Amino acid sequence: MTYDVINPATEQVVQTIEMNDAESANAAVQRAAAAFESWRTVSPADRARLLRRFADAVDSDIENLADLEVKEAGHTITNARGEAENVRDVLHYFAGAVERHLGDQIPVEGGIDVTFHEPLGVVGIIVPWNFPMPIAGWGFAPALAAGNTVVLKPAELTPLTAVRIGELAREAGLPPDVLQVLPGKGSIVGQAFTDHPRVAKIVFTGSSAVGKKILAGSADTMKRTTLELGGKSANVIFHDADIEQAAATAPYGVFDNAGQDCCARSRLLVQRSVFDEFMELLEPAIAGVRVCDPADEKSEMGPLISAEQHRVVSSFLDDGADVAFTGSAPNGPGYWFAPTVVIAGSPNDRIVTDEIFGPVVTVLPFDDEADAIRIANDSIYGLSGSIWTENVRRGLRVARAIDSGALSLNSHAAVRYNTPFGGFKQSGIGRELGPHALDSFTETKNLFIATT
Ligand code: NAD
Repeated sequence: MTYDVINPATEQVVQTIEMNDAESANAAVQRAAAAFESWRTVSPADRARLLRRFADAVDSDIENLADLEVKEAGHTITNARGEAENVRDVLHYFAGAVERHLGDQIPVEGGIDVTFHEPLGVVGIIVPWNFPMPIAGWGFAPALAAGNTVVLKPAELTPLTAVRIGELAREAGLPPDVLQVLPGKGSIVGQAFTDHPRVAKIVFTGSSAVGKKILAGSADTMKRTTLELGGKSANVIFHDADIEQAAATAPYGVFDNAGQDCCARSRLLVQRSVFDEFMELLEPAIAGVRVCDPADEKSEMGPLISAEQHRVVSSFLDDGADVAFTGSAPNGPGYWFAPTVVIAGSPNDRIVTDEIFGPVVTVLPFDDEADAIRIANDSIYGLSGSIWTENVRRGLRVARAIDSGALSLNSHAAVRYNTPFGGFKQSGIGRELGPHALDSFTETKNLFIATT
């Protein structure tokens, strides 16, 4: 079975690729299980050396990878380059981390007690279409560093960069079947990973609906899971914020990657006393977002990923949304959508509660700090968020009170390879990246050695 990869900025076919079926996915898992037996015995230093060579291969291919990402995902060229660089950097980070992934020596009676970090086996990584390169790297870099082998399924819409990264791994000298990339449908290849008894762990990034299916499906064989799911994050602007900076940066907190970002601050909470001032400053900031051909070096926002995504995002505005203002976008071809600012009606409206995954932000006024915290936490999600205030005590109080995994104060910084990332509530289970990520790709083994 083949699949046409479409350029979302032009609606032209970029490439036609072969999809895997359940049989080839199962065969790949068996090969990965066989490869694990030798990969687990490679010393951490030698695994690190190979991962650094892999990182160098990615580094020499950055322009090509970025070009593929622009074409298959509609990412701006500057973002796409940064995403390829992120794969390189995350490989270096975990190459450096694995030799420092230390066990414990625990004082006990009658002997010596030590712990080891043992690799799990085959790790299945299932990736969404919104950040195809980095999300794949956040899974395979620590998995491989820790001594696991990997089967990776990219999203149907965006398989090309993953396929290229798989080739680069082989060219860099990673042994066969240590990292296999398997384009295919979620319901077939992704499901095969979940069903297969030799897959020890699933790393899934995607919608909360599919995440729940994977969690349920993993119960049977007790697979370890890391789930990175949806979000409806808040950008909270207090009266004592630098209002000019908060307004100038607000578009970038939500419209990066055309709002198709799990960390998008898609609820804009503004204190009532500065509401009018903030909105006056926000309007020109939104108008200033350059939405155009993502291959253009000046482009700040590309199109949505597909006609279907365009339909879903548009549907949020169909039921009488109170649109305050919009930016601009090309007409087409391509799945363009202008940045849109909506004033919230009822707190139960879909536009307030649901992840839109498009360039639409909903503005909600609040009265005081307690009100801001209540609204920010009034969500089934808890992934990201920003707090703007010049009062450091307030900033810290509010940051501790918001139930969310990755917050920033006076910034929209999101994911870094060297800090932990993951969600509270229905935004997921577990953490990726950062100093503790290798723990979730290993089992702790305890050994007692009698000395008497
Ligand atoms: P999706 O859940 O539709 O698909 C994600 C991946 O799962 C794809 O590769 C798909 O083929 C596969 N899949 C689908 N059904 C499956 C099944 N039954 N079994 C196994 N795999 C299956 O998500 P999407 O539309 O590609 O991505 C958008 C979603 O991803 C948003 O909700 C977004 O918030 C979320 N996301 C979360 C993070 C995070 O780190 N928390 C990051 C990026 C995206």
